[in-house]
Amino acid sequence: MVNRHKYAAKMDQKKQNRLIAGVVQDRFPEVSGIVINMTYYQQGANPVLMERTVNIFPSSDAYFKMDCMIKGCDGGGFDLTPIIDGMAKTRKHVKKGALVCNGNTDVASDHASVDYEIFIQYKKRLDKRSR
Ligand SMILES: [Zn+2]
Repeated sequence: MVNRHKYAAKMDQKKQNRLIAGVVQDRFPEVSGIVINMTYYQQGANPVLMERTVNIFPSSDAYFKMDCMIKGCDGGGFDLTPIIDGMAKTRKHVKKGALVCNGNTDVASDHASVDYEIFIQYKKRLDKRSR
């Protein structure tokens, strides 16, 4: 019962976060599309857990926190929001990097990580903002 309740609370929190984040076209009006390639790694004999491509459209939620795939990981995940924020500010098109999950589990603290590649497409600028 306790676990079930905890799970429900977690889902509510996620919903809440998505609502707060708004949609891409509001938060990043110059962005016409984002593609995120991620490779999930875990510690152990079979280190590559999965590969995933996420397509984000102007109407998508501006919520870029990806879940940790490790069962029982509490408070973990991979938040790409600050990275995408930074890219959009400078109109950067491509960025690669890695993140380590900082969630709490019974296993090691470096139990999971991701390699990410982010591609952002921008709308053509209609007005030239001269500054
Ligand atoms: Zn984790």
